[in-house]
Parts: sequence; structure tokens; C-alpha cells
Amino acid sequence: MEKKKIIIIGAGPGGLAAGLLLSSKGYSVKIYEKKPYVGGRNSSFNLGDYKFDLGPTFFLMPQVLEDIFIEAGERLDERVNLIEINPMYRLKFYGLDDFNPYSYNKKFLMYGEMEKIFPYSSKSYDKYMNRESKKFSKLEPCLKVPYLSLVDYLKPNFLKALPYLDAHKSIYDVLGNYYKEEELKLSFTFQAKYIGMSPWVAPGTFSMISYLEHKYGVFHVEGGLNRVSKVISELIIKKGGEIFLDTPVKEILFKDKKAIGIKLDNGDTIE
Ligand SMILES: Cc1cc2nc3c(=O)[nH]c(=O)nc-3n(C[C@H](O)[C@H](O)[C@H](O)COP(=O)(O)OP(=O)(O)OC[C@H]3O[C@@H](n4cnc5c(N)ncnc54)[C@H](O)[C@@H]3O)c2cc1C
Repeated sequence: MEKKKIIIIGAGPGGLAAGLLLSSKGYSVKIYEKKPYVGGRNSSFNLGDYKFDLGPTFFLMPQVLEDIFIEAGERLDERVNLIEINPMYRLKFYGLDDFNPYSYNKKFLMYGEMEKIFPYSSKSYDKYMNRESKKFSKLEPCLKVPYLSLVDYLKPNFLKALPYLDAHKSIYDVLGNYYKEEELKLSFTFQAKYIGMSPWVAPGTFSMISYLEHKYGVFHVEGGLNRVSKVISELIIKKGGEIFLDTPVKEILFKDKKAIGIKLDNGDTIE
């Protein structure tokens, strides 16, 4: 039987992850990428002997990528070396010692860091980790399903998560429930900048970003984060998929409202 054909536009992390999963399930995958390299916003450039990531520079929640690799019959740890970074970062406040947050698997170091600068604050840290853990466990299932109609917002998982959504507050307000010191509120809210927002404006739902950093840690990918995209593209090719670089797609072709192929910038059509 002829393999079902899949066309993917763009070899960014999204297109590559889809390409890996589909090629591992036996589909005939063709990825068309307009740039001369893979990775999209997770690409890199070289300057002399040095390589620089253009997009993300550190890695969160490796288990998400591990799950994708396992589903594709592969192992992430055989192909990518992830190095956990502790302390995760160094925060400097005027007139205070440096504050170096550690991930939760080094919580005694974190308690020490907190108490060194903010006495009695490690209890607040535990309160924050416990409540945010509950919040994440309620919200995570809701992040894995599409919301294509209003009815999707009435599904049991979403309704159960509603009391934890914190969407009517800002991230800064949510952190105010745990910490009274201004510096601590800032230490757990600056992560709003990852989604391009201010902690005073971003919905409190996103307080889970700093929780995820503390819970699962922050990782460096040996060789740069762009290696993840390169490795996935190699696996797609190993599984019989094809990646066409320097090949911009001009339009998606439809018949009876169904996508049936694409037209490339050079005029070729692929169905
Ligand atoms: C500075 C920076 C820091 C970031 N930090 C983080 C982080 O810490 N954690 C995190 O999760 N995310 C981070 N991101 C975001 C992350 O890089 C993106 O979410 C991710 O790259 C999105 O993947 P994507 O495949 O959906 O889109 P993209 O990466 O944008 O890939 C889309 C691809 O499609 C190609 N394309 C577009 N149009 C066409 C066409 N017509 N024909 C052919 N090809 C086409 C593009 O060239 C591109 O390669 C960061 C991004 C930046 C820029």
C-alpha cells in the first residue's frame, strides 16, 4: 500500500517534531523550508570559531522532548547531552548579596540562598512550590488539547482547572500571595519576559513558568540548543523523510476546502 503523503511547511521545532513523529509512524514526510538551514527561530550562526544560538539559549522541561523521542522509537539522551545548570541564574539587587536560585532537586541549597538574604522565606518558597504544583497538574491536561469551539471550554478538565487559572490577576499579584519582599516577587516573576510580557500585565496563569524552572531545572544543550533541531532533522531523514532547504512555499492548494498540496515559489506544485 502506498504510504500516506504528508507535506510540512517550515523546518522549525514545530515542523520538525511533527515530521519526526509522522515519519516514525511510516508516513511519507516531505518538509519544505524557505531558509538554507533547519531550526527556524531555534537556529544558530557561526562567527569565527564560535557558534551562537539565535533563539532559545537554555532548555526547560526536557521530558516533553523525551516523550516525543520515545514515541518516535528514539532516545534523546543518546543523541543530545543535556547539562543541568545550578544555580540556574544569578540575580543582582542593589544593596543586597547576589541571589542564586537553585532548582528544587537542590532545595536545601535554595533554602540557604533564600534565608541568607530574606530570613524565614524558605517556608514561603515551599508554599509557592506546593500551590503552583497543584495548579500545573490541573492546567497541564488543558494545554494538550485544541480549543476549536466554545464547547471545548466546557470539558471537565478545563472546568476543574478554572479555580487555578489566576487569569484575572497578574503574575506579580499571584507571587504576592507567597512573598512580601519586593525582590522575591521580582525573582519569581521576571520569567514573564520569556513570553515577551511584563509581570505586571501577564496573566497570573503564567506564574507556572518560574515554577517549572524551579521544579524541573534549567538545562544547557551541549553544542548549543540548535543541536536539538539538527538532531531531529537527521532522524527524519534516517526514517525516510525528506527536507528541502531553500525552498519557499508560495501557497497551499485546496480542493473542496481540503488541502491537497502546495505551490512553491519556483512555480512547482507538489500534491
Ligand atoms: C530570542 C528567542 C528566545 C526564545 N526562547 C525560548 C525559550 O526559552 N523556550 C521556548 O520554548 N521557546 C523560546 N523561543 C521561541 C521558540 O524559538 C519558538 O517558539 C519556536 O522556534 C517555534 O517553532 P515553530 O516551528 O512553530 O516556528 P519557527 O521556529 O518560527 O519555524 C517556522 C519555520 O517555517 C519556515 N517558513 C515560514 N514560512 C515559510 C514558507 N512560506 N515556506 C517555507 N518555509 C517557511 C521558517 O523559515 C522557519 O524555519 C525563543 C525565541 C527567540 C527568538
